[in-house]
Amino acid sequence: MKKECPICGQPAAEGSPFCSSRCAYVDLGHWLSGSYRIPTNEVPEEDVDTDTQNPYTDGSSQESGR
Ligand SMILES: [Zn+2]
Repeated sequence: MKKECPICGQPAAEGSPFCSSRCAYVDLGHWLSGSYRIPTNEVPEEDVDTDTQNPYTDGSSQESGR
């Protein structure tokens, strides 16, 4: 019997209550915002992983030296 991800309802990954790290972050975000409630059929928003892409970097350290 497999667990289900409490965020999106998909089968959770082994050793984790969530299906992916993204859903784990969504759940964490709910806790941090203090508005955690029993999830219904809500689909997780895509606005949680803004850390992966940072358009406001200086670009001085990641430049390929030419
Ligand atoms: Zn999920």
